[in-house]
Amino acid sequence: MNIEERFLKYVSFPTMSDEGSSSCPSSEKQLAFARYLEGELRSIGLEDVKLADNGYVYGRVPANSPARAVVGFIAHMDTSDAASDQNIKARVVDYKGGDILLNEKQNIVLSPKDYPNLQKHLGQHLVVTDGTTLLGADDKAGIAAIVTAAERLIKDNIPHGDVMVGFTPDEEIGRGADGFDVQGFGADFAYTLDGGSVDGVDYNNFNAASADIHIKGVSAHPGSAKGSMINAARIAAEFAMMLPQQEIPELTDGEQGFYHMTSIEGSCETALVRYILRDHDSAKLEQKKQTVLRCAGELNRRYGEGTVTAVVKDSYRNMREVIEPRMEIVELARDAIRRVGGEPHSSPVRGGTDGATLSYMGLPCPNLGTGGENAHSRFEYCSVEDMLRMSDVIIHIVSSLTGR
Ligand SMILES: [Zn+2]
Repeated sequence: MNIEERFLKYVSFPTMSDEGSSSCPSSEKQLAFARYLEGELRSIGLEDVKLADNGYVYGRVPANSPARAVVGFIAHMDTSDAASDQNIKARVVDYKGGDILLNEKQNIVLSPKDYPNLQKHLGQHLVVTDGTTLLGADDKAGIAAIVTAAERLIKDNIPHGDVMVGFTPDEEIGRGADGFDVQGFGADFAYTLDGGSVDGVDYNNFNAASADIHIKGVSAHPGSAKGSMINAARIAAEFAMMLPQQEIPELTDGEQGFYHMTSIEGSCETALVRYILRDHDSAKLEQKKQTVLRCAGELNRRYGEGTVTAVVKDSYRNMREVIEPRMEIVELARDAIRRVGGEPHSSPVRGGTDGATLSYMGLPCPNLGTGGENAHSRFEYCSVEDMLRMSDVIIHIVSSLTGR
């Protein structure tokens, strides 16, 4: 099976995760794909292949040479709920430039005018959808690159130490690392393949916290409210206006952090405003948390102690603090990318990755590309050649850990 056939097989499994479920995996259908992968890993010769009860799939490409370290590669099986996963009609286009007509009936077009990255894929084979579903290259392109690399290491007898592979459920709902067995995985470090371009090596993600602002009001007849009413809904708005007005997702990029109001609901009696706070710099995230608490304190001085309660919680951290003391892990990937003709670059990730959580669980884990584009969208597509280059990147990383 070549990488194109493999990928087409993978995307035929619908694997959307379900935020509303508390089980793991969050959706039954991920298990069908997990079982398929378990069988495939066995059939290409991996050892210690295991499908855990929680849906995680693990395997080991057995060493045929001594190596300096045990490296792992990780990708996720689930897809985002931002677009349908039902009846995905993937097909391969030999891309010569211009628009790609995804769906004649509904006149859905994938155009370089909307997606200029298409230009980078001239002359390549692109897997596209019919414009009504996502493709699932996020992250099945990552899985295809990893499995293809594992198969080549074994079949072509390329010198390698033990190489661990791990496929996780529920990344898209933020739980992909939660059930990961770092101890059992047994790698010294790993890479997630969950990015876009082949050139990317990312290890600088957000530090993240949430802040729930609970407001208790006192209702009264508005005609005779003077001196007695405390309007929780209005205080919610007042709170929102006290935060730095420029530090919001709509006005920030790169390494600029933000306060993002995710919901607001309320009446005179009670109100709840929810925020997420993000910053690449952990000291600056700390300041944001303090600002929230200070504003709550100020409102309590204005309206009485107990009016506003801010509940601030940390969610995930920037893996940079774990990776920077071990930059050889990043350099290894950069070298491998250069060897496949790429120009490695690292850019700030404006989100979190499973690798960030894994890094703090003791498995340093930068993120690499997959060859996929337009994730979480009906316009998602994936370059077959880039997936193949990612499997080359994996092989170069593995090879550089053996011998000399
Ligand atoms: Zn992903």
